[in-house]
Amino acid sequence: MNATSNNDRENALPLAGRHAVVTGAGSGIGEAIALELARLGATLTLLGRRPAPLEATLAKLAGEGHGVTVADITDLAGVSAAIEAAAAVRGAVAILVNNAGAAKSAPVTKTTPELWQEMLTVNLTGTFNCTHAVLPGMQAARWGRIVNIASTAGLIGYGYVSAYCAAKHGVIGFTRAVALEVAKQGITVNAVCPGYTDTPLLGGAVDNIVAKTGRSADEAKTTLAASNPQGRLVQPEDVAAAVGWLCLPSAAAIHGQAVPVAGGEVMAG
Ligand code: NAP
Repeated sequence: MNATSNNDRENALPLAGRHAVVTGAGSGIGEAIALELARLGATLTLLGRRPAPLEATLAKLAGEGHGVTVADITDLAGVSAAIEAAAAVRGAVAILVNNAGAAKSAPVTKTTPELWQEMLTVNLTGTFNCTHAVLPGMQAARWGRIVNIASTAGLIGYGYVSAYCAAKHGVIGFTRAVALEVAKQGITVNAVCPGYTDTPLLGGAVDNIVAKTGRSADEAKTTLAASNPQGRLVQPEDVAAAVGWLCLPSAAAIHGQAVPVAGGEVMAG
């Protein structure tokens, strides 16, 4: 390959040769992120608990060499072993997108210790576990991109989701702290904060509105979309585009940020 075609390839596939792990890649935002990173040339490991949705995402990816690994991000030993096995096949992990998460709602007085713990464990401890597993490899390579999918609920409060809000605020604090630790090591760590996004997870919020107000599911979605100044639900592809940008080699100076993808609902400043 001559120098010109090497440059063309770099421009077209800026993540070629980079192994990317996306958690929760079998649905919603995680699936869209996996498609975007593969489009940019990365080699993907799709991680989640259910094999069937991961295999369905795998079948849609551009390029070759991608794979699936079944693991629970709340289990440090299990997820570390899964990531180590993926690295043995596809090389050290260069990109980690901590996307897997869950959102359950309840008024604070009805938030049981189990619900509280579940939200913290999957959204916050899961992010810690996967970061803990990949960071030594990134430090050895002196290159890495970690993108944590937080939420606008990591930047502002919302009623009836105190456990989720606390966990997502924690994800942003964790992002900022790790960013400072690795700032001189060629690794960037950022959070992306979607507003209400049209995915299976949003179904829980829609069901709640339907149950409590008797409105239809479409009317409930319209209510949620009204909190976005653009008057629409965020699409998974909107979030994926922001993640893809943060993973580019050219995004090296964007570090320790929490980037809202919310149509102006939250203005970071
Ligand atoms: P989703 O479609 O429900 O996706 C969540 C994914 O996480 C699923 O694929 C699920 O797969 C995986 N997952 C859940 N628990 C896991 C565990 N313990 N171990 C491994 N994987 C696990 O929801 P989404 O809307 O795309 O959400 C993705 C991320 O965006 C979440 O962090 C969410 O908090 C965040 N977010 C969503 C919205 C929204 O409005 N949709 C807004 C802001 C932020 P398995 O069940 O197969 O494991």
